[in-house]
Amino acid sequence: MAESPILVQRPGEACGVFGVFAPGEETARLTYFGLYALQHRGQESAGIAVADGETVTVFKDLGLVAQVFDEPTLATLEGGVAIGHTRYSTTGSSVWANSQPVYRQVGDNGIALAHNGNLTNTARLAADIGRLFATSDSDLMTEAIATAMADGCDLERAVVDTITGFEGAFSLAIMDRSTLVALRDPHGFRPLCLGRLREGWVIASETAALDIIGASFVRQVEPGEVLVIDGSGVRSRWPFAEVERRLCLFEFVYFARPDSSLEGRNVHAARRQMGYRLAEQAPVAADIVVPVPESGIPAAQGFAARSGIPYADALVKNRYVGRTFIQPTQSMRDQGIRMKLNPIPEVLAGRRIVMVDDSIVRGSTTRQLVRMVRHAGAAEIHLRISSPPYRWPCHYGMDTGDRDTLLAADRTVEEIREFLEVDSLGYLELDALIGATGVDGFCTACLSGDYPTDVGTAGDKYVLERT
Ligand code: AMP
Repeated sequence: MAESPILVQRPGEACGVFGVFAPGEETARLTYFGLYALQHRGQESAGIAVADGETVTVFKDLGLVAQVFDEPTLATLEGGVAIGHTRYSTTGSSVWANSQPVYRQVGDNGIALAHNGNLTNTARLAADIGRLFATSDSDLMTEAIATAMADGCDLERAVVDTITGFEGAFSLAIMDRSTLVALRDPHGFRPLCLGRLREGWVIASETAALDIIGASFVRQVEPGEVLVIDGSGVRSRWPFAEVERRLCLFEFVYFARPDSSLEGRNVHAARRQMGYRLAEQAPVAADIVVPVPESGIPAAQGFAARSGIPYADALVKNRYVGRTFIQPTQSMRDQGIRMKLNPIPEVLAGRRIVMVDDSIVRGSTTRQLVRMVRHAGAAEIHLRISSPPYRWPCHYGMDTGDRDTLLAADRTVEEIREFLEVDSLGYLELDALIGATGVDGFCTACLSGDYPTDVGTAGDKYVLERT
């Protein structure tokens, strides 16, 4: 009987990728700052690969960008080409082996790869390339490209020849000792953009990462486009058959920074418009509109503007709470959400509150939050969510968990309202959400169950067995 692949870790997640081609510049340092701007896309691990024309060097570790890199480390990372990665995972295990960029030696050259997304044909791919033990999608992709290079292709050719075998979501930054390649899968699930430095080029998951290093925005990398950047400039290759564009709608709802633009549309403006439409769709009599910071702020502003109900900050977020490796004590853990958010009773007491957030995934945070706001004296809590119920697992990199962990998976809105113990609950409808972005051509799988690619075997990668 044929052996099926054994894949031992949960694969790629929504992450941040960054790359620089700028001979003569401190590319690793620029990448560090680019990753810093992309920290919200991944807090599990951070890494940078750099090449000086001869050697590719990778430095990566678990932790936040500022925990992983210090001045002496950056000083050792010299060269004119660099890529970087921040890895995100809500449910996957944090192990060093899963941190990126992934590296392979190929003869006297080397390649490094940074991946944002998640493949949906991993099992088949692993069998095809005869690799039975892989730690992640990114590992498999690197292996496939390295194998093609070992057969005598240059990086550009190796990528173009192998990439059409991958299915699912992949925005990639790949490099060897002298070339940077950036590409998006043909649906364009995850964003990626191109920027210009005075003497060089930058690619980044989000436009906000260009701003921080003083690069100017040139354009987005198009779905299905392979950009090759080397000493002779930038050129495009189009190896994929054309398919429908399906940018992840959740990038607009939650994931991307508000100061980034996607498809030419500023994310903050889109979120504000979502709140505006939410107020039209699910109006309620109340005294104040309170955002759940940070994610609910623009939508709450839009809701307040449209409804005429005053906006009020009543939940204070500790800006310095991120992912940390120091575990809180048990008694602190019982306080749960207070590590992150603390209410201002003076604002809430006796008032009818419209509480606005962008999404509910598992519902555990939201329920704690509602109890806390009630305890702080709110007279009524009307929860308004600026996206539809999150009912389906994402197979394209959001990694929000399996279906049975999603609060809305098999509950009606009324059942969700009861579970969350709120006086009323309103979600923004899908059409209104898409309308608020001003763009179309989205993947809405998590909200609609409409998966743009075959995900029939997407779960195989989690199965640890040999048949
Ligand atoms: P919960 O009630 O536990 O589902 O948490 C809801 C909160 O999680 C909202 O404030 C969302 O902004 C936030 N959220 C949405 N999507 C994600 C995600 N992919 N990872 C982490 N948090 C998320």
